[in-house]
Amino acid sequence: MEKTLITNSDDKARFLGYDVTICNDNALKKAKGKGTVKAYTGKIKLYLPKEKWVGKLLGYGVLKIVSRAGEKEVWKPLQRNDYIFLPVHEMVRKYNAQIRGIYNYYRLASNVSVLNKFHYVMEYSLYKTVAAKYRITMTKAKLKYTKNKEFKVPYKTQKGTKYAVLYNEGFRRVKYALGSYADIIPEYEQMNKPKELFFRYKANVCEMCGAYVPAVKVYQVKNMSDLDVNTEWGAIMNRKKRKTLVVCGDCYDRIHK
Ligand SMILES: [Zn+2]
Repeated sequence: MEKTLITNSDDKARFLGYDVTICNDNALKKAKGKGTVKAYTGKIKLYLPKEKWVGKLLGYGVLKIVSRAGEKEVWKPLQRNDYIFLPVHEMVRKYNAQIRGIYNYYRLASNVSVLNKFHYVMEYSLYKTVAAKYRITMTKAKLKYTKNKEFKVPYKTQKGTKYAVLYNEGFRRVKYALGSYADIIPEYEQMNKPKELFFRYKANVCEMCGAYVPAVKVYQVKNMSDLDVNTEWGAIMNRKKRKTLVVCGDCYDRIHK
């Protein structure tokens, strides 16, 4: 029985970098001729795992976590030595691209607002990098370009002065993945049977070779017309009329050869 796969609401699956859960509200519903049964009426929820955004910060080299036994962990934003020789508006552009990148990827997550913390570390890393560039204090670097709470760096172009503004548009959750990012995120909310995919994912069984594996991957096409029915996987997906196929690592590699 598929539904026995979920044992409690804390049960999570990692899916394309998201943590996925079904909120099980333990509702009972009447089933025809069977009395009341437990119904899985809960909604799919997506979460941005902490290790993902903290990992990005560590990977960029903008964060140092100092932890001493018995003391609270201290987070220190770091300057980026590889950016020091860039014009400041270029620095802003690079930081913005990295902030927007993670936000665009995780904008469906229920807890996407944790990216305010991500932003904070990036912001202070930027101030420190500007400070190092001009050999001034971090506070001076911040004030140098801050007006009306915006970090706004002028630069000259052939069409006159333009401004690079540090990202300040917040991290609201959006219900649908839009634009060019739509194809890298499974569109749970738009899918006919999001729970079905979730259960298939949780079953840990490869839909191609039948192997039971600790971790499965999901192969996905945007449109049914993208399927090559001459391939093993294309034929299976075509037969099942599905745009997704849950597979083991080996089969995933075969598909992507
Ligand atoms: Zn397989």
